[in-house]
Amino acid sequence: MSQHTQPLTLHPTDPGYDAELAGFQTGFAQRPAVVFGAASADDVIAAVRYAAGAGLPVGVQATGHGLPGGSEGGVLITTRRMDGVRVDPGARTVRVQAGVRWAQVVAAAEPYGLAPLNGSSPSVGAVSYTLSGGLGILAREFGYAADHVRSLDVVTADGRLRRVTRKSEPELYWALLGAGHSFGVVTELEIDLVPVRTLYGGSLAFDGREVDPAGLLRAYEEWTRTVPDGLTSSFAAVPYPDVPALPPHLRGRYVLSVRVAYTGPDGDQLVAPLRELGPVLTDSLREMPYAESHTIHSDPPEPHAYYGDSAVLSELDAERVGEVLALVGPDAPGMCVVQVNHLGGALAKSAPNSVPYREGRFLVRLLAVGDRTTARARLDPAFALLAPVTLGRALNFAFGAGDRTEGLYDAETRKRLAALKSEYDPANLFRRNYGP
Ligand SMILES: Cc1cc2nc3c(=O)[nH]c(=O)nc-3n(C[C@H](O)[C@H](O)[C@H](O)COP(=O)(O)OP(=O)(O)OC[C@H]3O[C@@H](n4cnc5c(N)ncnc54)[C@H](O)[C@@H]3O)c2cc1C
Repeated sequence: MSQHTQPLTLHPTDPGYDAELAGFQTGFAQRPAVVFGAASADDVIAAVRYAAGAGLPVGVQATGHGLPGGSEGGVLITTRRMDGVRVDPGARTVRVQAGVRWAQVVAAAEPYGLAPLNGSSPSVGAVSYTLSGGLGILAREFGYAADHVRSLDVVTADGRLRRVTRKSEPELYWALLGAGHSFGVVTELEIDLVPVRTLYGGSLAFDGREVDPAGLLRAYEEWTRTVPDGLTSSFAAVPYPDVPALPPHLRGRYVLSVRVAYTGPDGDQLVAPLRELGPVLTDSLREMPYAESHTIHSDPPEPHAYYGDSAVLSELDAERVGEVLALVGPDAPGMCVVQVNHLGGALAKSAPNSVPYREGRFLVRLLAVGDRTTARARLDPAFALLAPVTLGRALNFAFGAGDRTEGLYDAETRKRLAALKSEYDPANLFRRNYGP
């Protein structure tokens, strides 16, 4: 509990307003009528009650990695001051407050030989990531992060702070884990940690002008059929611009890579066929402490403008995805990053939450750097190519597509979510994110 009684509030003309709104995504402007800089669950309650009383929509921002788009007016709750992390090594759990980034959780768990189910980027917020599923670096071994939540502290539209567990409120628990942004403001999560101290992982990169991208992708897909369930991997195609800020081995290169994370034995043996696929540009595959796992993907740390979306595929039709690679590759105008995640394994197991499309075999993520209109014009034709094998979209990888909700859930899940939404948030207070 915080010591102050009045939450920090900022209006557009106040000094500090713009700084409070700064985050990782720089492409979408947030211009709320009032910002509540929350330092505690009490501050969140005050903000939600204020918004409900004034009939204003509520948005939340932790780190700004996943903004659904720009917004004007309403209430924005910033959570960066809520940065508490408490590990219970005996129970193998950790309590994380709303503003916590994954790097903090990894660092807090590491001394106990434990690890959270974090994703590729250490600076992403743990709470929102988990509410939308959370596809982690060890996802095929352990499933979605949402599958490992013990309890959620959440302020719902009625201004009440509830501790929600699978037992206490099974329907709200189900809805929050998969569509949480539309059901309240989560102030704290209690999540499982897994006993992982080290892993075998890294990235194996090829020059996309020396190796045929579609051929490499086909070989990757064939390789995924041979790996154990516990091995998680993805393919990426990144056309790096020719700018001095980049290291020479990346500058101006079209880099194709396979990224791997695996906690089992014989990692080197398992990846051996990949090393035969062509002249290797860089090879960082190795045994590493879990605390170094952020180096596997080396996501960009600097804030920038981007737009992206994704398609969960029933199968990886390498010809089709090869056409996508050609369409948005290095010769396309503007930089587009393609990532293909191997799903299955524990991700396919059902869980008491609303994370959809567990039957998906692969996830294709497309991300374009730059403004939304040009990015969308570039990416839409690529998604159209994938449409015949697309089951739906993944909420965590819809960057700026907040006006599009179709495909985020299957019909049955959407119907159940919509019914719960009318029960828990009848005035649609939490409408600043992709609603069900
Ligand atoms: C570089 C990068 C790497 C990523 N890697 C992965 C990955 O490996 N796996 C994966 O699954 N995802 C990944 N993501 C997606 C990421 O998990 C989502 O974008 C997530 O929403 C980011 O949360 P945030 O708090 O960091 O961002 P924010 O932009 O601050 O929050 C995103 C949205 O979440 C909602 N929200 C935030 N906090 C709360 C809260 N306390 N209660 C209710 N709603 C809230 C708000 O609606 C907000 O608009 C990545 C994103 C980026 C940019």
